Amino acid sequence: MSETTCNHCGQTFDDQQSFCPRCHAPTPAQQEKEIAAHGKRKFILLFIALIIFCVIMIVWLPRDIPTSIRSSTDAESPSSHSTGD
Ligand SMILES: [Zn+2]
Repeated sequence: MSETTCNHCGQTFDDQQSFCPRCHAPTPAQQEKEIAAHGKRKFILLFIALIIFCVIMIVWLPRDIPTSIRSSTDAESPSSHSTGD
């Protein structure tokens, strides 16, 4: 077991504790753990947003392709020539 010193009030206490028993300030190790947990949660949210974006793109793309094919074939087909006499 090792001891740690509080950054807030200078109290020396057991390293196993997650916060200072005197001022209840979280230990640097505990702060790091919280920051890491928060970063991981942020990454998961970003990953979920990316998946939702991919799903939206997959749903939208097939609908857009036939439209472009139809418009290109329509342009190629000969338009009704004026049958002037
Ligand atoms: Zn303290």
